[in-house]
Amino acid sequence: MAKAEGQVYDEELDPEHEARRRLALAQIRQYPDVALKMKARPVERFDDDLRSLVDRMKLLMRDARGIGLAATQVGVVQRVFVFTPSKDEVAAIVNPEIVERSEETDIVEEGCLSIQGILVPVERPLRVTIAGRDENGDEVRFELDDIFGRAAQHEADHLDGLLIIDRTTPEARREAMSLLRPRIVLT
Ligand SMILES: [Zn+2]
Repeated sequence: MAKAEGQVYDEELDPEHEARRRLALAQIRQYPDVALKMKARPVERFDDDLRSLVDRMKLLMRDARGIGLAATQVGVVQRVFVFTPSKDEVAAIVNPEIVERSEETDIVEEGCLSIQGILVPVERPLRVTIAGRDENGDEVRFELDDIFGRAAQHEADHLDGLLIIDRTTPEARREAMSLLRPRIVLT
């Protein structure tokens, strides 16, 4: 089964990359951070601030070995995420809208960079078309399937404050919450 966003592959990292991954993860908001539950606001200005946010998010996503990262995960409550529309490609999408969804769905164990160590089954459409703008304000449109379509839907959810534990089965949610509860006490 493919795994989205978080634990992409069970890869062994060398010490330098592992250190970089840990540094990146330390900069990503972790459940139950309040930013993760917020509905992000539309971006109105396509300026240098936006472009430097996108650059920073792309680096964080790469170092964290993720395949998607939403602005809310770095505490910025704006509608923008970075993702991998295909292998070896990285893009940003601003004010994204999912404009088409396949009726066909599948269920995949999904992880999240903001809920480390948790994988839960999430049902999503197999294929989506997502439209929005890039960081320069130009219109973009992606037709996505497989793990790439799933990651884009996962990131779009983040912009509405929705997490994998909100999308999974009641049983898997209960199990995940029991694993997460000790962390809540500690933070
Ligand atoms: Zn996530």
